[in-house]
Amino acid sequence: MRLLLTPGTRRRALHYHRMPRDSHPVHAQPPADRPRVVVVGAGFGGINLVKALARAPVDITLIDRTNHNLFQPLLYQVATAALAPSDIAVPIRAIFSGRRNVSVLMGEVEAVDTTNRLVRVRDTGDVPYDFLILATGSVYSWFGHDTWRAHSLSLKTLDDADALRLRVLGAFERAESRTDPEEIRALLTFVIVGGGPTGVELAGAIAELARSTLARDYRHIDPKSTRVVICEAAPRLLAAFPESLSAYSAGKLRALGVEIRLGEAVQDVRSDGISASGHAIRAANVFWCAGTEATPAANWIGAHADRHGLIEVNPDCSVPGHDGVFAIGDVTTMQGPGGRPFPALAAVAKQQGRYLGRALRRRIEGRGESGPFRYRDYGQLAVLGRSAAVADLGWLRLKGVPGWMLWSAVHLVLLMGARNKVLVYINWVWAWLTYGSGARLMTGVGGAGKAATAAVENTAAGDEKPA
Ligand SMILES: Cc1cc2nc3c(=O)[nH]c(=O)nc-3n(C[C@H](O)[C@H](O)[C@H](O)COP(=O)(O)OP(=O)(O)OC[C@H]3O[C@@H](n4cnc5c(N)ncnc54)[C@H](O)[C@@H]3O)c2cc1C
Repeated sequence: MRLLLTPGTRRRALHYHRMPRDSHPVHAQPPADRPRVVVVGAGFGGINLVKALARAPVDITLIDRTNHNLFQPLLYQVATAALAPSDIAVPIRAIFSGRRNVSVLMGEVEAVDTTNRLVRVRDTGDVPYDFLILATGSVYSWFGHDTWRAHSLSLKTLDDADALRLRVLGAFERAESRTDPEEIRALLTFVIVGGGPTGVELAGAIAELARSTLARDYRHIDPKSTRVVICEAAPRLLAAFPESLSAYSAGKLRALGVEIRLGEAVQDVRSDGISASGHAIRAANVFWCAGTEATPAANWIGAHADRHGLIEVNPDCSVPGHDGVFAIGDVTTMQGPGGRPFPALAAVAKQQGRYLGRALRRRIEGRGESGPFRYRDYGQLAVLGRSAAVADLGWLRLKGVPGWMLWSAVHLVLLMGARNKVLVYINWVWAWLTYGSGARLMTGVGGAGKAATAAVENTAAGDEKPA
């Protein structure tokens, strides 16, 4: 791997200009005698990498298709109206406003020219690099079924959370104005495909919203009759947790009224519901929390990838066969101790970002090579409603209120931005005391909201029947 730069490459400037897709970069700025580092993706990995590298004598361009860094672990609370979108996101520019060697570029990367070392950004132009770090994360996978994707909502971005919130709140509003009991039943049925942490957290939050927060607000429907179903193909929920915590989680969710269908692989997703293991469930709302796959970064550089599109990286996060190109976080797969790949978690992406930032800094400053990446596993957490969570820290397992207190503290510490920490804390205390939910507004119902809730109209009346 070549890390020290040739004088020729050093003297090329960092700047990009708006230009046609196939044109070459325009070097309008005075040349800088410093390596140019381009980071694609300002998620957990990208942000931590830039923070660790920014003090080095480099010029960094951080590219993201959004203008914010998002705390995905609390997305489900935005989707269920407990928090506002701005509570869990921070503008990327604000994070680096004091770092003059860090430029932020909002744009969608669509290709990389590894021969000429250019990153191609849609509608913007080409950005030259000496070092390229790919940190573009993952997306949900519908296992190749485009129609399933069309008939379900997922939860990965703030836009997804907005659409999901509109769907959830819109379903209750529509049900209130209907008279056909079968139609009302379909409107108030929420099917969640996937019993991992996101599916479990979303199911618990919708059940609590219906049974506690909304219970007294409607005159013609009874929100307590809301049906929340988790369909999970595996024999238990939260498969990555110890069995005792999975069993506890299932019991806790059932107590909230969630119906759990284990060992039921989804066979079809339609506009009027799903089929799983020979049963049809009529539902106006299907939320997809099942498998994931990598964003297409491996294709951009022609890197070796596994069957989920994950770039297979070396223990120092470099991409084999691609000089000066690195990848971190959910877009990669890296062998951990015992040959098992590291999990797709925020902690892995953060630690890889910090590790690679420091390693690049050492090498650029001529302080030698770093050892391989080592993951420090602090454990995993999942919340199960208002006052319960499970925590597996390896040396300690917690459940119920102690687990929930740990979950709350960890999420407040990890959430970026002092303002967000304060707002989220106040919201949580208020919600805990009042069972209230501060972000129940439906905005954009004339435009995006209309589209988001239109599928509800397609729901025909009817009950469960064989598929
Ligand atoms: C709903 C949900 C809940 C989660 N809960 C937890 C949890 O409780 N604990 C935990 O450890 N992990 C959790 N995760 C997983 C965790 O969020 C990921 O492991 C982590 O975000 C991975 O970090 P990353 O930097 O690799 O990617 P991301 O954080 O996803 O960042 C990728 C960035 O790349 C940008 N990008 C992608 N493609 C392009 C492109 N073509 N051009 C420009 N920019 C692009 C995106 O806009 C994004 O900002 C959760 C994930 C989700 C979806």
